[in-house]
Amino acid sequence: MSEQPFFHSGETPLTDVIRKLGRAFLEDLRETNYLLGSGLDPARRVADVHERHQQITSPELFARFREWLKNGGDEPGAPLLHEFLVTQQINRELRGLTDEINRFELEQQGLAGREMVPFRAFPTRLANAANPAERRELHKAFMELHRKFQPLYRRKFETAWEWEEKLGYPTTIQRFERLSGIELTPLRDGMREFLSRTGDPYRDLLRSRRAALEGVDTPTGADLPWAFRGGEFDRFFEPAPMVEAARGFTGAMGLPWDGRRVTLDIEHRPGKRPRAFCSAIRAPHRVILVLEPKGGFADYRTFLHELGHALHYSNVDEHLEFEFANLGDNSVTEGFAMTLDHLAWDRVWLLKTLKMPRIHVEEFTRFAWTWHAMLLRRYAAKIEYEMALHGARSFHGMEEHYAQAQGAATLFHTTGEPYLYDVDDNFYCARYLRAWMFAAAMHEGLRERFDEDWFLNPRAGPFLKSMMAQGQRWPADELLRRNGMPGLSAGALWRRLEEAAG
Ligand SMILES: [Zn+2]
Repeated sequence: MSEQPFFHSGETPLTDVIRKLGRAFLEDLRETNYLLGSGLDPARRVADVHERHQQITSPELFARFREWLKNGGDEPGAPLLHEFLVTQQINRELRGLTDEINRFELEQQGLAGREMVPFRAFPTRLANAANPAERRELHKAFMELHRKFQPLYRRKFETAWEWEEKLGYPTTIQRFERLSGIELTPLRDGMREFLSRTGDPYRDLLRSRRAALEGVDTPTGADLPWAFRGGEFDRFFEPAPMVEAARGFTGAMGLPWDGRRVTLDIEHRPGKRPRAFCSAIRAPHRVILVLEPKGGFADYRTFLHELGHALHYSNVDEHLEFEFANLGDNSVTEGFAMTLDHLAWDRVWLLKTLKMPRIHVEEFTRFAWTWHAMLLRRYAAKIEYEMALHGARSFHGMEEHYAQAQGAATLFHTTGEPYLYDVDDNFYCARYLRAWMFAAAMHEGLRERFDEDWFLNPRAGPFLKSMMAQGQRWPADELLRRNGMPGLSAGALWRRLEEAAG
């Protein structure tokens, strides 16, 4: 081994070395993930990115950073850099598995009836299958593929658990809490209360989906995507005018997206991931929004969600430090994304931007709130289950736990095959839950300041832009506080829902 650390000249401060290496690594990784997720280049490998950027994930650099912290190293962005370095230490160990999982997703097909269906095509097929028997066949094949996935995922969890222990964190819960500064227990408890308070309103709302579930005795996971597809509203959500509608209102409020910075990849392509995403390859200069169209309301709300990310990333102050522009609390970027996607079922937005006839607004928003309630309840059950899984560090009983929790929350009978697949890395469910609270606070604050049609008010855009310019320098709650907005609370979520169920 060389005595001379290859990454550190001794003159450049250690944190600047990390920023420089981190920027190059993330740009390469995000480009790779874009090419993989968009279906443009399925041969890309995450392991190659790690191969090209060994310095940023090297144990030597990590040890030096920890030493620097121990000796009182202190900079405003240090906690964000620390979280990034720990995550990448673990991701380095997972790189081969990450590629195996990507390949599996891309190559596996399931036999439904007499037809082979690619793994990634199942969600869209399920959402569009009007016949209950066909849905059951599709769902059975999809769940069998999930079962084939389980050994890969068990290896992934075991590797991550082993490495976080080596890095000084007895559980994933402690890793998340100590590095992010966000406590999971109060968040879970707030969502527990959400579940108990919204049981009756959700049951009431769900009655509006009865027609979609005709011929079904016991609704199951096979029926859920179809029940919330809402095809009867497709005529209000035609594909052609979607981008123009978004261009119209963002322009009116003074927050248009910059076409030189933001690229839209929204055409159908085989192999494109069904779940839309936004890749901030180099914020604020190069941002790509990726969406595989499915039709109707889902496309509008997903497009608005990803547009919220794209606006956030492309408006980040270009002089901001690497860690504030690229790292930090993702509840912030998810919060801006949800602030925009909530518009897709905002009465005033539907009337003024989409020109939905008033007589249909009531019926449609009831449908959308039902879907939203299901989603929030699903995530309330998710954080409960994920804390149990990561707390126990064992798979014993977890498949049943997952099925029971999801079934009780959504009221659609659920089976447990996706019990490891349906777990986002690094407690991302907590970022989503905080983001829904952020969006609820934003809608309340924006309406108060800029009226109920704030999304057309030319004073709203510059206000949002000034918040977005700070990247993720502040955690979501702090960013709200600094801008005079209400704070994060689970109460705001159930109050809006009770109103909607009225
Ligand atoms: Zn998002």
